[in-house]
Amino acid sequence: MNEQEWRKLRNSRSMLYAERELDPEQPILLSIDKDYASRYDGQVALITAASLFSRMTPSVFLEVPAIKVVPELPWRGLRLRDVAMETMKHADPYAHFDCRDERPGDHTVRLGATSKSRIVHGSGWNIYIGSGDSPISSSNDLNPIGPALSVIIEAGNIFFHAFKVPHVSYMFNALHWTNGILPVSEGVLPEHIDFRKIWTVGTGSVGTSALYFLALTSGIMGLTLFDMDIVKIVNLDRSPMFGALDIGKYKVKVTATFLDNMGIKDISVVEKALHESDLFGKRSHGVPDILISAANELNVRSIIENNLPPLQIYGTTGKSWQASMIRHVPLVDPCSCCLFPDNNHTETACATSKAEAISGEQIDAALPFLSFAAGAMAASEILKTNLSGYPFTDNRTFLNTWGGPRLSQKKLSDREGCICKSRSKIAHRQMITGSKHILLSDRQLLHNR
Ligand SMILES: [Zn+2]
Repeated sequence: MNEQEWRKLRNSRSMLYAERELDPEQPILLSIDKDYASRYDGQVALITAASLFSRMTPSVFLEVPAIKVVPELPWRGLRLRDVAMETMKHADPYAHFDCRDERPGDHTVRLGATSKSRIVHGSGWNIYIGSGDSPISSSNDLNPIGPALSVIIEAGNIFFHAFKVPHVSYMFNALHWTNGILPVSEGVLPEHIDFRKIWTVGTGSVGTSALYFLALTSGIMGLTLFDMDIVKIVNLDRSPMFGALDIGKYKVKVTATFLDNMGIKDISVVEKALHESDLFGKRSHGVPDILISAANELNVRSIIENNLPPLQIYGTTGKSWQASMIRHVPLVDPCSCCLFPDNNHTETACATSKAEAISGEQIDAALPFLSFAAGAMAASEILKTNLSGYPFTDNRTFLNTWGGPRLSQKKLSDREGCICKSRSKIAHRQMITGSKHILLSDRQLLHNR
């Protein structure tokens, strides 16, 4: 396959979804100032931007000072510029990515807190995109969410406006999922987070994005991954983990290898659909703590709900240039089958109706920044479970990117006749006894009495 054929296939889901791709002739310069580049938050922003933009266009260049990666990140001690460049080459081996200074005609994505022109600045939970100095105080929290979402949101802006980004400023915080920024003292993450019992069903674009951002924190992770699919070229534009050399390999194995290289060691993989593995049905009480349910295959939600799941957190990409985070607290919130009834599968899956109509079968199609956003939103929610006062938002939050970024929240609704109306609450309570977040169910049940 030559470069042109490869690129056409790689971008095919963007074309199905939005009938466009980024102009491959327009150079994008990812430029980061020395202060931001020497910090955890700035390095997360740069590496996320390198991964995302290199999956959208071959014309990406780096202007990165000679600085080493901070000890808190997986690539500690390596040169930041080299890590960003390797990240891009992993995504697209055909492109001629390079390091150089700014040139006339560049579309420069300026990462940092100070400049006369438009900047992209994320730190802690906060996000600022706009002109002039950033109103955000730098946080020393090892929280990748604000930095990652700041570049993801700007990528959506650039894509929607086809490089003619209007002079509009945005200030968001990802803790309350509202406009406006927070003091750095709010929502500080604990130093050592225990993520040793997270199971992920579906290691596609959203699942791998969620795991990628979690792996950038200081958490101790232990993971069990379920997915029956193999990596295809059409998957390369929307996952921060999949690379051109991974084609034809099981997604779970590629994900486990990528995480292993990020320093996450305790990973089990199941190369099967959930219904083909008895691991979930036969699991012990209290296992896992959190289920990231990021699969779309038929009936997966009813299999999960029939097996009395623990706290579920995941992200989805919607039909209207939208990414969302969804949370189901057991015994309290409407379940995932309330939202995704099986008989209505193709309407609710993360695909466009256009894509389905063309093929006559379900094809997952989303834009690269939407899948990254959905993963980052799910990761942010999982991080928040470690803060007192959790939860901070409704059980469904949205990032809308059509026309420019907007945040919103909308509670899930119960569905009459759903499986969750007839299953045993006593059995469900027993099944999740011993899981880390059972108090969340018990507290809210008491509160609702
Ligand atoms: Zn339900």
